[in-house]
Amino acid sequence: MTSKSPACPQCGKTDTVAKVNHIYLENLSAKPLTEDLLIPHVLRWPADKPSNSKKSYDEVTFLKQFNPPSGQTVVIRQVNPDLAVIFFSLLAIFLLYKIYISQRGAFFIALGFIALFYAAYFIGRKFIMKKFKQRQDADQAAKKQAEAAIGRWMKMYYCWDEGIVFLPGEKQAIPLDQIRAYLY
Ligand SMILES: [Zn+2]
Repeated sequence: MTSKSPACPQCGKTDTVAKVNHIYLENLSAKPLTEDLLIPHVLRWPADKPSNSKKSYDEVTFLKQFNPPSGQTVVIRQVNPDLAVIFFSLLAIFLLYKIYISQRGAFFIALGFIALFYAAYFIGRKFIMKKFKQRQDADQAAKKQAEAAIGRWMKMYYCWDEGIVFLPGEKQAIPLDQIRAYLY
């Protein structure tokens, strides 16, 4: 909306262009819409419609397209398997002690089971650690991708003449409904 807006790659105009994150922020703000604001222009608000009227379902759906990309994966912090085993070991020592003082007969059976667990863990450890590393790498990649998507979203402009979004300096014009696919 300001003279600082880059020209639309499709129509070459600058006065029909608004920053995507401005539209989003304006839509978020609870204050009633005024004619000076971007949204009435973006929505092609009819002249006879009060500018502070409630947004219709279609308008809400339309404006949702300006939302920032939300990470598609929930990043769960992975627990290192070795740490889990250390925790288990502390618990096992406590339980073994309890068994030793109360049911000495069961002590060696319990000890046997724990020994089996350790044997299985040390045999499978290489594989378990590999899986753990793969999950960590995948989380890391997803996080990077989500950050890159946000970065692009922050720089995007919308031209309400053709209903397209674009990045300044790039020739590509993307229909607004394809913005998600473009961000990722
Ligand atoms: Zn345009």
